[in-house]
Amino acid sequence: MDVNAQMIENLVKKALQEIGEGEAASSGGVFETMDAAVLAAEAAQQKLLHCSMADRERFVTAIRETVLDQENLAMLSRDSVEETGIGRYDHKLLKNTLAAEKTPGTEDLTTEAITGDEGITITEYCPFGVIGAITPTTNPTETIICNGIGAIAGGNTIVFSPHPRAKNISQTLVKMLNEAMVAAGGPDNMITTVTEPSLDNTNAMMEHPAVKLLVATGGPGIVKKVLQSGKKGIGAGAGNPPVVVDETANIEKAAADIVAGSSFDNNVPCIAEKACFVVDCVADKLIAGMVANGAYLVTDSDMIEKIVDLVTNDKGGPKVEFVGKSAIHIMEQLGITVDSGTDLLIMETDKDHLLVMEELMMPILPIVRVKDADEAIQCALVTEHGNRHTSMIHSTNVENMTKMAKLLQTTIFVKNAPSFAGIGAGGEGPTTFTIAGPTGEGLTTAKSFCRRRRCVMKDGFHIRNF
Ligand code: NAD
Repeated sequence: MDVNAQMIENLVKKALQEIGEGEAASSGGVFETMDAAVLAAEAAQQKLLHCSMADRERFVTAIRETVLDQENLAMLSRDSVEETGIGRYDHKLLKNTLAAEKTPGTEDLTTEAITGDEGITITEYCPFGVIGAITPTTNPTETIICNGIGAIAGGNTIVFSPHPRAKNISQTLVKMLNEAMVAAGGPDNMITTVTEPSLDNTNAMMEHPAVKLLVATGGPGIVKKVLQSGKKGIGAGAGNPPVVVDETANIEKAAADIVAGSSFDNNVPCIAEKACFVVDCVADKLIAGMVANGAYLVTDSDMIEKIVDLVTNDKGGPKVEFVGKSAIHIMEQLGITVDSGTDLLIMETDKDHLLVMEELMMPILPIVRVKDADEAIQCALVTEHGNRHTSMIHSTNVENMTKMAKLLQTTIFVKNAPSFAGIGAGGEGPTTFTIAGPTGEGLTTAKSFCRRRRCVMKDGFHIRNF
């Protein structure tokens, strides 16, 4: 047998892994202390730095394949709903699949080159090192898959501080992904977490000197905290996405799209339609179309207030136990049995009703009649609270679309489709589950998790003339 350089390199890599990782391999990436989780990820990142781009892509493929394995996919989706009590199994299957299939890998890391009489300058996307990521209850596995792929494609390793209510499923996924990447020849502990996720552990992660970049996917509290940390932070915060329907829209399609988007995973996605503004002359048709597509129309104003009392707390925010619950479950608590095909509760309200203003993350969609598209867009602007997160319009009037885009300045603006088209589900483009409006990265990819570095060579590789 001929022994070539590649074979020797592979053997050395394997031996190094065996020597260096004997102790840590047993942890599966889950550590007693945050310090241990970060240090293990730091050691892994040092090894990852010596891996080729092809190696990184292989590790990313290992993540994708592990999640897409039908048994794993079913388990992750089922256990995530069971542990958190949030969302729908059928939709978690779709979301986990989307994260695994459409999160960009190493191909995202394009190199920029400038050449001229003085030579060549390239700018490349290089690793930060260890990333500290905070993940939400609403997308626990999706965010780990998506941030994990982006981090590793970018040459980083990543420590996750999940929500305590998603502890078990997060640990299971971290272990599975580590195992798969080690089997693909990677260093162990490229993805780590702690046995007891807590606010203290999140704080310890943010303060750890080896953590060079923080990624917060959650509500305003955690985003603010990360941005005050003194480190580079990516903040992917709350939204309250409005949808506008004007008189030029295809109303039947708008009705079906809005029900699909607003009821997706019981409305927990930060991008999901949370309030609807419709021009009066097409409102009845839109509402009828929604009912035909699985919405239950609540007409009694006392019942609307009963729903509000049931699902909101005394501060007007969502009661945790109703976040991500089904429309059927919510109505059951009020002694009302609705059709088994009901995906969404709809009701007409004023524009400043609590259901319009609050991000509840439940399949409840308030509908507000307005006189024209201008009023609808103004209402949408107020409802969005300046989050600049996501908005939708159903219209064939380009002027209205342009006006809304300019006024709301949302990171995602979907025209004539359900909200999820904005993250690559039925719309063009890749996906992400970390949409960084506040800090401006937008739909995060591997690039967002990298530092831009310049590499200059004087007088060489300028090949256009002598
Ligand atoms: P959350 O803010 O309660 O928790 C998010 C994460 O932050 C959790 O891991 C939690 O433990 C941690 N956290 C919260 N406050 C903290 C504090 N003071 N100190 C330390 N850690 C803290 O949110 P959630 O209910 O899990 O998720 C839903 C929220 O996340 C919604 O507001 C939704 O819009 C938002 N979200 C945004 C995106 C996005 O891409 N922009 C994606 C998913 C969810």
